[in-house]
Amino acid sequence: MRPRDLSRYLSDLGWSRSPVPPEAAVAVEETQDVAAGTLEDLSRTAAACTRCRLSEGRKKVVFGEGHARAQVVFVGEGPGAEEDRTGRPFVGQAGRLLDQIIFAMGFERSEVYIANVVKCRPPGNRDPQEDEAAACSAFLDRQIDLIAPRVIIALGRPAARRLTGSTKPIGALRGRWASYRGIPLLPVFHPAYLLRTPKAKREVWDDLKLVMRRLESTASE
Ligand code: URA
Repeated sequence: MRPRDLSRYLSDLGWSRSPVPPEAAVAVEETQDVAAGTLEDLSRTAAACTRCRLSEGRKKVVFGEGHARAQVVFVGEGPGAEEDRTGRPFVGQAGRLLDQIIFAMGFERSEVYIANVVKCRPPGNRDPQEDEAAACSAFLDRQIDLIAPRVIIALGRPAARRLTGSTKPIGALRGRWASYRGIPLLPVFHPAYLLRTPKAKREVWDDLKLVMRRLESTASE
């Protein structure tokens, strides 16, 4: 059994391997609730979710969007104001930069999948807290299992931390391959950081070349 198949098999049994802390066990126990057969089913479950305090302040749940069998899944940290208003991920300024990144990689936005660590907006655009990320983890895990991408790209520190389990700064994690649920995972700088620090675009581009090389070299697998 290939690693990806094993991961899906274990997930179907309700076994989660998320690198979340013990206090996050609540999310793992609730995995059964989100054992949806399709992304649409899962999205409906998410729309009614009240697992954490972020549900109290949201306008819309930002479930994620894109191709249901995308080769590449991008994972950001959580919705901002524009995303909360529209219910769509990465539609603000950082989203426009992400669109350019996706295009530069040779994809249309509709060909990839874009999700977040948390599906509801953290107040004041703060980072999601550990327990909020944990409460949402079963949704992200199931999204990844259903899509079964060839590569996951973690955008910024909260996503890299959630998916690698490492507390190292993003500067130390970016450009280094890890794996999540048996799928190659590459952390890169978040587009919002690139807006503030345009010279870091060079590093992101170097990192994305690693992704493209990997996709090319494993194209026939
Ligand atoms: N928009 C999102 O959907 N996620 C982010 O991490 C930032 C902006």
